[in-house]
Amino acid sequence: MKDYLVRGIVESKNCRVFACQTTNLLEEARAKHGLWPTASAALGRVMSATLMMGAMNKNNEKMTITINGGGPIGTILATTHSDGKIKAFVANPEVHYTYNDTGKLAVGVAVGKEGSLQVIKDMGLKEPFVGTVPLQSGEIGDDFSYYFMASEQIPSVVSVGVLVNDTNEILSSGGFIIQLLPNATDEDIQFIEERMKDFPPVSALIHEGKTPEDILKVIFEDVEILATQDLFFECDCSKDKMATALMTVGKDEIQAMIDEDHGCEMKCQFCNEKYQFNEDDLNEILKEID
Ligand SMILES: [Zn+2]
Repeated sequence: MKDYLVRGIVESKNCRVFACQTTNLLEEARAKHGLWPTASAALGRVMSATLMMGAMNKNNEKMTITINGGGPIGTILATTHSDGKIKAFVANPEVHYTYNDTGKLAVGVAVGKEGSLQVIKDMGLKEPFVGTVPLQSGEIGDDFSYYFMASEQIPSVVSVGVLVNDTNEILSSGGFIIQLLPNATDEDIQFIEERMKDFPPVSALIHEGKTPEDILKVIFEDVEILATQDLFFECDCSKDKMATALMTVGKDEIQAMIDEDHGCEMKCQFCNEKYQFNEDDLNEILKEID
């Protein structure tokens, strides 16, 4: 089944809702980056949350989420233009921890919680919007939920999850977000709190074959789906862009690459694609700088 997200509204409970399935795109990211299971879980949760945040934007603004909690995984970074396409990486893909008591993937341990979650929204016109909040648990869902409350003043439930099999392949990935509208009542809040008690992990629901629409209907019988969007892991890197990046290292560095190494290799951090620059390419770049 393809990856997609849905956006909807529950008028009876004064909230808007989002749900997504990201199993395939996470599997693609896992293969490209060589992610170990807990790193897969961390990146999958971040990508699901980021894609759903993208669906909250009216225009296709560029959004970048950066999380750094001081844990062994290092920085996690995800970027989308709110068009269903995402690219993302973790600094250290070979990270794997599980909790002793439950055996579950210990995302909070891998990410750490001594740090921040930063959201940059670039509308391309004026100064970008930057919102930064301290991490709560490093488990990602809690951290996004806190971000919505602290930075955007929107009470939200954020549930994101990933299941990985014994050979490290992604079995399921996805999530949902519930956001209260300004006219929500205490009864609405109570209803949602009740529904979330003992609610099964979203990764288990997706693994059972439930669609994003199904998951929302398990929570709200009367959810109205307003839009759907296909989701992809897609990087926009190219040799030209890499050449532009190379220019910034300076002429001396490039000359040294020519003299000592007779070329260089550049790797895209978002997708691990490698680009080779031979002496001619590098001389061309030197000319461009002049
Ligand atoms: Zn790339």
